[in-house]
Order: sequence, then structure tokens, then C-alpha cells
Amino acid sequence: MFAKVIIEYSVKKLDKTFIYEVDEKDKDIIKVGMKVAVPFGNKEIFGFVLELIDNVEVSYNLKKIKKIVDPELVLNSELLQIADYLQNLTLCTKITALQTLLPSSLKAKKQEHDYTFYETIVKLNPLINILESKLAKQKYPQQLKIIELLEDKKEILKKDISSSSLNTLIKNNIVIVEKRIKYRLNNNSTLNTSFKLTSLQEKVFEEVKRNLNNFKTYLLYGITGSGKTIVYIELIKEVLKRGKTALMLVPEILLTTQIIKRFYDVFGSDVAILHSALSAGEKHDEYLKIFRGEVKVVIGTRSAIFAPLTNIGLIIIDEEHSLNYKQDNNPKYHAKDIALFRAKYHNVPLILGSATPSLESMARASKGRYDLLTLDERVNGAILPTITVVDMLPEIKSRNNILSALLKNKIANCLKKKEQIILLLNRRGYATFINCSNCGFTYKCPNCDITLTYHASSNNLICHYCGYIKKKEKLCPNCQEEALNYYGLGTEKLEEYIKEIFPKIKIVRMDQDTTTKKGSYEKFIQDFQNEKYDMLIGTQMVSKGLDFPKVTLVGIINADTSLNIPDFRSSENTFQLFTQTSGRSGRSNLPGEVVIQTFNPHNYVLNYVKNNDYKSFFLTEMQIRRKLKYPPYYYLIGLKVIGKDYSKTLNEAQKVKDYISQKIAKDTICLGPTTALILKYNNLYRFQIIIKYKYDSKIKDVLKEVNELFAFNKDIFIDIDVNPSRL
Ligand code: ADP
Ligand code: ZN
Repeated sequence: MFAKVIIEYSVKKLDKTFIYEVDEKDKDIIKVGMKVAVPFGNKEIFGFVLELIDNVEVSYNLKKIKKIVDPELVLNSELLQIADYLQNLTLCTKITALQTLLPSSLKAKKQEHDYTFYETIVKLNPLINILESKLAKQKYPQQLKIIELLEDKKEILKKDISSSSLNTLIKNNIVIVEKRIKYRLNNNSTLNTSFKLTSLQEKVFEEVKRNLNNFKTYLLYGITGSGKTIVYIELIKEVLKRGKTALMLVPEILLTTQIIKRFYDVFGSDVAILHSALSAGEKHDEYLKIFRGEVKVVIGTRSAIFAPLTNIGLIIIDEEHSLNYKQDNNPKYHAKDIALFRAKYHNVPLILGSATPSLESMARASKGRYDLLTLDERVNGAILPTITVVDMLPEIKSRNNILSALLKNKIANCLKKKEQIILLLNRRGYATFINCSNCGFTYKCPNCDITLTYHASSNNLICHYCGYIKKKEKLCPNCQEEALNYYGLGTEKLEEYIKEIFPKIKIVRMDQDTTTKKGSYEKFIQDFQNEKYDMLIGTQMVSKGLDFPKVTLVGIINADTSLNIPDFRSSENTFQLFTQTSGRSGRSNLPGEVVIQTFNPHNYVLNYVKNNDYKSFFLTEMQIRRKLKYPPYYYLIGLKVIGKDYSKTLNEAQKVKDYISQKIAKDTICLGPTTALILKYNNLYRFQIIIKYKYDSKIKDVLKEVNELFAFNKDIFIDIDVNPSRL
């Protein structure tokens, strides 16, 4: 017997299987989809079995598979098909596609250690007569205590009673020790929470319920606070009742804190969670729980779409518009595509939920490719907040640089009423750049083409792209004058400023800098919920999904940072970000308010946000996209040619462009090469080619050729992004 094995060696040229002989002893065990260790050159390397065959015609002697790494772990046929699909979708190598399916502890590679976590328990030896063992009683009261405890509790964790008396009992075989697998995350508390659905929710519920045995894509457009999550929960209950499983994606870890709690309350130990903030060991455990069929519901972020659930009855993508569902590094897949694949595979519905659906999804819904479901009222009679747009130009003149007079007043008011406030500022750090007023010097990243951001808490200058860090000097490094000034506003400075005007205010700041520690998100969210803080300041992390009944004021500090990003999606992203953030205000019986500060008070995006007018925004933005030939009218592929030397790379980029231009369909557009938005990144120059197409059956093949023809030039990398989330 022979096996075709794809190995962990990820070079595009080696993206093919190698044939190995299967050892006699493994013949009955080995299966397609298993992870194996094989000899390769003079090394041991890992891979997956993709095919088993009885005969091969080769003249040389084939090497044997060294061992099956884990006979339990077999990628089933659905997962193998997902890998094929992923490879085709993103043009990655087969091994990359397969590795993407697995948590790092289970990938095909040399694993440093066993991630399985064991606990040791002790119990009475059933073969020993207790009466006899009680003989110990007279002489050794300590030992007796342990015996009595074990009679009462049956088993105890060894670490809880470790003592010399226990060791004696073990030695004398009176108690026995057992090692067993322990999952790191455990949840057994079910509260059996149940809601009576409102009539709007009921309608949505019934429609999906009727179609639980059909593949269908629903776009659930439900305004913020309309009770989408409750509908998801009730539908999942229904799916479980039918003996099936459910998979739900959420865009961010932060969001999962509150949602996981809700799911734990309802589904208890039937839930597994998968997200990037889990430790490698926790991910390992959760993955295996799913793999072993011990859970029925999986909630997680993007990569949870690969969860090895079987018998799936429903897939949900909450906040479907979120760009987090697109992976930025290879393979550059979108979770929605994988979700569609899996929903089709299982012949079940996929629900895409959002208060601000992506243009792509709404366009498909308007064409009837998705079924539109709507929840256009908040639950419990709560109403959407009133939104005021403040022009900052006159404010600056009256020296209200950071907070407008209106927002300042409203904050004071809110504090007086003991209600809570969320401020959004989409820039972390203290100052966005430092400039010398004497010589004009600014700190720039030596590796990238951007200015460094100043972080006051650590007195560091940091590159937000490559992570380069440098201590800030007191004197200008160029002219040695003490003339370095701070410009631009970051969350750190905003916090400092607000504390100056409201000395008693209690603020929690959430951004990448304050949430690196494990568990910090959860704690901040919980403390804010328990009203230990008056104000939450954060970057876009605070925009989505959070549900705090006491929040009645939301401030968007600098609307223009988001609007001015040079990307065809920046209007859409801004509309979503502001609508979602506004949606945090007034979610209960307290009416909510929102203040948006901007230098572009007449911008159409802000106008639509202000009027809660998704529909008009959609129509306006669609016209712009049509005119500029962007998605959803055209498909987009972003291709970057990356290299160390500026002119060599540009030269190569021109060749790539010329090659593509000759091969594509007549109405496909190929633009560039132009410099990428960040030209120099990590010491490499990046040129961009953009392809826009409507129907082009050859395009994927052309890109595969480009990958083969140009990617082996050792100084040049080609990076292809199909349906990029940003250019
Ligand atoms: P969304 O996900 O659409 O923003 P949520 O599902 O978070 O909305 O619901 C908003 C709030 O309304 C939550 O606090 C939730 O507990 C509550 N809620 C939702 N549906 C109901 C219902 N049928 N009965 C009572 N409360 C509800
Ligand atoms: Zn950098």
C-alpha cells in the first residue's frame, strides 16, 4: 500500500504530493486525512495523507512513512474539500490550506510539546477492603482523614491533598492515582435563560426555521439593539433540538466576551469557543472538544469557520460587514466564502447579520441572491439615539481643540445623572507625530514609509506598521534644540485631557496598548458594565456588539481620520463604524445621544449616519461604486510586487502588468503599477497592480501563471489578494 503525502515544506514549486510506502503495521490504521511523519532528504518532516493507492509504477525504492502522528486526528472529507476550495480561492499552496484548518498545536510540524493538559486524581482502591484500611485509623489520624474524605467525595484532585500521608497511602496501595485529560476551559452553568420573542423577531425566527433543511443565504438586516442575538440563540436551540450542531462567527474577541457569556448561560457545556486570545493550550482543548463531538455549538472569530463540527444545522456570521472576516496574511480568505461553502455542503441556511450590511451583501439581497430579513425596531420600545454633527472649525477658534463645547456639556450632564459615556477615537497612542519647531525634524520609521506614533506611558515612539520602537529623546536629534512638539490626538492624550477637565471621572481606556494582557478585555468590559467606570475611551474596538444599558452618550472625537483614509471602502467603513458606535447609546429605557466631531460637517456619509439612513447611504454609495468600477459592480484583485530594490522591483512590476494585460479578457481592467499606500514596509518596496473584472474565466489561471513565472525571482515576491478588503 502506498500513500500520497503533502508535506509541510511550503515552497510553491513543491506544491505537490510525494509517494511513500505504508508500513505493514500501519495498513489497517492509516486513512486519508491523517497526519504522518515522513523522511524527506535527511530530515523528518510532517504532512497529510491525501490519497491511498495499491500500486505505483516507479523504478526506484520508495521510502516508508515513519509514523502516524495521531490516529485520532483525521481530516474528514468535508475538511479536505474545504482545503481544496481554499487553495483555489486564494491561490495558496495545498499545505498552507491544510495547515490553516488546524490550531497551531495540531498543525503538521515538529510539535515542541504535548498540549494536552492532565489532572491527577486520587481515589480509594476498590480492591482494598475499607475496613482493613481503617486499621490505619488508630495510628495515623492524618491518613484516616484522607480515607474518610475519599469515602465521602469518591475522588479528589491530588494537588489539593498532597502530603506525606497521601504518599504513604499510595505506596501501600490503599488509594490509587489516575491521570486524565482535563480541558482548560469548562463551563457547566446553565441559567436556562429564555426570552419571549417580539412579533418582529418571531417572524424572522419562523422564516429561518421553515428552511432549516435548505441551503439559503439570509441577510438579516437588524438595526442596533433590535435583538438579533436573541434570534440567533432561539434558532440554535431549534437546531440542537433536531440533533444538529451550529456554528457562529463574531468579528472580534472583545465582542465574544459578552456573547460568550450569553451563550454559556443558554447552552452551558455544549459550547466551545475559538478565538485568537485563547492560549495555544486552550485552543487545542477547544478544538479537540469539537473534533470529538463533545460540543454542539461553536462560537469564534474568523478561523473558527474551519471548526471540525460535523452535522452542521446552521451557520451564522454576526456583524457580517466586519473587515475582520478577511484574513490579511496568507491564505487571504474571507470567512464568508468558507461559510457559504459549508452551508451548501450541509444543505443548511447561512445567516449574515448586521445593522450595517456590507454593500456586497445588500446588493446581493436586492438582486434576490440572498433572502432579506429585517428587524427595524429596537426591542422594549427603546429608540435610536439622536445624533448631532458638530463643526470643529469654529470650536478650534474658541480653543476647544479636543472636545467641542457641546460634547463637554453633555459629558458633564451625563456624569451628573450617573449615566455612562463611550468615546471613540480611532488612533491609539498619545501624539500621532512629533515635529521639531526649530528645524522641522520628524521621527520616521527607518523600515517603513510613515511617521512614528508617540506613546507617553512608555515614552516610546512606535511604528504602527512594523512595530519598530525607539525611546523619545529630550532634545531634537537633528538640531539638539529642546523644541520637539506633539501633534495629533491619540487615545492616551484624550484620556489625559478629559481627566484634566473632569478630575473625578473614572475612565477605562481600551485599545491595543491596554488590552495586550490576557483577560484584560473581559475585565474592562465587566467593570464597565458594573459601573466601576463612567467613561470608556477606545479605538474601533469599542464600536461593535457591546451592550451596556447605562450608556446614554457616545462621542466620536475625530470623524475625519476615518473619512480621509484613501481607500474605495472608506465611506462604507466610516458609515458602519459610526452607526455601530452610535448604536451603543440608549439601548435600554434611557434615551441616547451621539455627538460627532468633524471638520467636514456636510460630508454625505455623516449626514446618512445622522439620519440613521442606511438605505439612502446604500443607494448613493452604489452609484459611486458603479461609476468608479469598484465592488460590488466589479470584482477586484490586488497584486503587490515586493522587493528590496526600488527600481528593480518597479521594473518587475511593469513586466507582471504587461504579462497580465495580454492575457485577460477584453473588458477586464488592469491598472498600475503604482506605489502601494505604504510604499516602503519593513524595508521592502511595494508596487501595486489592480485588476477589475466582471466575468473573466481565465483570470485565476493567469494569476497562477504569474505566481509561477515571477515568484521565483529570488529578490521579488508576488502577493496576490483576491477580493481585498482594502487596497
Ligand atoms: P442586537 O444584537 O440586534 O444589537 P441584542 O440581541 O443585543 O440586539 O438585544 C438588545 C437588548 O435587548 C439586549 O439587552 C437583549 O437582552 C434585549 N432583548 C432582545 N430580545 C429581547 C426579547 N425578545 N425580550 C426581552 N429582551 C430582549
Ligand atoms: Zn515600521
